[in-house]
Amino acid sequence: MRILLIHTGGTIGMEPTADGFAPRQGVVEQAVAQLISEGRVPDTVDILTFHQLIDSAQATPEDWHRVARRIWEKGAGYDAFVVTHGTDTLAYTAGALCLSLPGLTKPVIVTGAMLPLTVEGSDGWRNLADALLAAQTAPPGVWVQFAGKLLHGARIRKSHSSALDAFEAGAGSAPPVVVAEQPALSVVRAQRVGVFSVTPGICTPLLYFAAQSCDGILLRCYGSGTAPDTPEMRAALTLAADRGIPVMAVSQCPEGGMKLGTYAAGQVMRDTDVIDGRDVTPEMAYVKLQFSLSLGLDAVSRRDFLSHSQCGELTPDPTL
Ligand code: ASP
Repeated sequence: MRILLIHTGGTIGMEPTADGFAPRQGVVEQAVAQLISEGRVPDTVDILTFHQLIDSAQATPEDWHRVARRIWEKGAGYDAFVVTHGTDTLAYTAGALCLSLPGLTKPVIVTGAMLPLTVEGSDGWRNLADALLAAQTAPPGVWVQFAGKLLHGARIRKSHSSALDAFEAGAGSAPPVVVAEQPALSVVRAQRVGVFSVTPGICTPLLYFAAQSCDGILLRCYGSGTAPDTPEMRAALTLAADRGIPVMAVSQCPEGGMKLGTYAAGQVMRDTDVIDGRDVTPEMAYVKLQFSLSLGLDAVSRRDFLSHSQCGELTPDPTL
């Protein structure tokens, strides 16, 4: 069993500095060597470290693609992959890897840590060891190993900003992999996707500006799918529809998802062809919008891509 560990950055490989935690080359490599010497993980691990280690707050869709491309290029030589990553945007990268690698036949285990390997009490040791062990046993697909749990890569969310058990994920309606006849690499490039939260006393000119200038919009609405129905809101969403840009709605509630059509107060979204994100996480909805705009799909295929589950991120709706 040959495993390739791709180290992108994040707290796991940081050290304390006068300015706060900052990435340092060699931290993850030394930890893997120690785990191997203690016999805690297999000794067939190669490590590919990104030249510039980043705090994942700096990550872009190009970084998602860089990781996916490495896995694609190195695929033939390895049985499994581990990706070490910052926790802040780990959910986006995990979701993006699911969509980048249709037909993936191997496990990809993404992990990180809330405390650097270089500090006392770091959770990095456990997460790293668990990820390398999960790489040997997990089914094909993109999984997140964190705090003793193996979680679905397309359903994952960072739910706590400081606890070591920082991630949660729903079970997923299918494995975290896009079904395809042949393994492939899908290319994502940064698109102008605006994210807009509705609020009481909403600043609608901002939404109107997004409708004018973005390629897609993620609308974080209330509860099961409501938003203020005002002439300004209608004007903004009508403009987006007229421009043919996708607008996808997700709920601000962390649980339960949404169902457009439950309340009359969601009518403005139905009238303007807003796509019901149902129970997709906001992170995965954003990633799907980025891919839907990168894949060169026509408007019908794009709507279909956004409305349907690609890799277990949505609970299937039997009426669709
Ligand atoms: N800011 C860090 C990052 O996302 C946090 C972490 O890794 O836990 O890179």
